[in-house]
This record gives sequence, structure tokens and C-alpha cells, in this order.
Amino acid sequence: MTLHVLPPTRTDHRTTAGAAAPADAAPRTSPLRSVPAARANRRRVLVVEDELDIAELIKHTLERGGDIEVELAASGDAALKASSEQPPDLVVLDLNLPVLSGLEVCRILRQRAATATVPIIMLTARTSEGDRVMGLDSGADDYVTKPFSVRELAARVRAALRRGRAGEAPQATTYQGAHLTADFDAVSVQVDGVAVKLTRREFELLRYLVDNRNRVLSRDRLLERVWGYDRFIETRSVDVHVGRLRAKLGAAGRQIETVVGLGYRFVE
Ligand code: CA
Repeated sequence: MTLHVLPPTRTDHRTTAGAAAPADAAPRTSPLRSVPAARANRRRVLVVEDELDIAELIKHTLERGGDIEVELAASGDAALKASSEQPPDLVVLDLNLPVLSGLEVCRILRQRAATATVPIIMLTARTSEGDRVMGLDSGADDYVTKPFSVRELAARVRAALRRGRAGEAPQATTYQGAHLTADFDAVSVQVDGVAVKLTRREFELLRYLVDNRNRVLSRDRLLERVWGYDRFIETRSVDVHVGRLRAKLGAAGRQIETVVGLGYRFVE
């Protein structure tokens, strides 16, 4: 179901919907100004949110640039139906939905082949770490906690779309950062031109962190992807390996951030 809505007229969204309003008023653009060629390149974002004020604000903000087309779904059922009819390029998914929760929707989207790798950004009104960890473990790529800045959400959506598009190309096997140079095919890692000797596990951990750079990765996800979900490994051993990897990487080790209560993120 597509809801074509006008931009919200209220400006004080923080008090009404818990989201920050854009500082400057958006110019109203006429649909006639849309260029057909640009329309074909638009990325499709499915926003799943039962609170219409918030949904409309997100839609309005994302569509301002003209390169994103937003479809709204007010329930988990509607989201599953819309995404099976035409898989979106990205899903913004509210955790707190009636009937079918955002977590359940996330798991189902991940189980379906057509949406298994679609980036999912979860919105949560809750601040508990448990919910955020559950969100990431259910397959969400990122999360934003309400009240949120809609501009920040838009920036994250665009970043995730860029990553998604990059992911369509063959996976890069090399990484060149300020200090770190890695050639994952050649199993070669250097920091400031000096070779670093890593164990196989440390190497795989670095590779997964770098492949998913700027994303928060939970300990469980790292265990699953790097260790292959060996049930005898405790999540704490991820911390130990990250600690060793950081120490070996020296200046580049600072790029591996601890996200308190959630996991780790390789930043650039
Ligand atoms: Ca909601």
C-alpha cells in the first residue's frame, strides 16, 4: 500500500512525535519538476511505522533530495506484503508496531531470499541495551533511538544505500586507510608500512570488521560470521580477540571502536 501524503504542516515534531524537525523549512517541490531519467534511478525505501506523523516526516525528509522514493507501511503485515511485491532497496523499521513486532518483521524479511540482504535500519523508542542488541541480532544493520533527528536518520539511510550499492560490485579484497593497508586475498596486513602478523582468527575478524566498516556489529554476529557460531565459544572471547587485534594494529587499532553494550565498529 502506498500512501501519498503531503509534507506535515506542524513544525514542532519533537514535542508531538519525538523527532526533530528540520531547521529550515523545506521548499515545496512540484511533482512536475521530476526528471524521468532521475526517477528511474531513484532508490526505493520502505518505511514501516504505525505513527503517521513520524512516517510522514521521514518520507518528506528522505524524498527532499529527489533521489529516494518512499513507500509507507503502517503495520508489519503491510510491510511484508509490500516488500514481497517489490523488494525495496532499504527498510526503515519501527520496533514498536501493533500485532507483528518490528523484530518479527525483521526476522521474516531476513528469511526471505528477496530481502535477505536488504539494509534494515530499526527505529526504537526504547533505550534499553537489550532491545538494541535484539534488533541487531534479528538482522537489522543499524538502529536509531527515538527521539531522533530525522536528518541523522536520513544521513544513515543514505550511507546504508551507498554501502548497499557498493555491495553489488564484487567484494573489494584490499583496504587502504590512513595507517592500515590490507590485502585480504594475499593475507597481507601492514600498519604504516610495517607487516603485522595476525592469527587466522584475528585476520578473519579484521576482514569482517573492515568489510562492514562504519556498522555496529554485535558480539553474537561476529561470533556467527567469524567463528561460524561455535557454541562452545563465549561472546567474551570476541572481546579478547578484538583486544589482541587492536594491540597488534597499533595506530590503526583505534579504528576499532567499542560501542558500549552493543559490540564493535570499524570506523573510517
Ligand atoms: Ca510505532
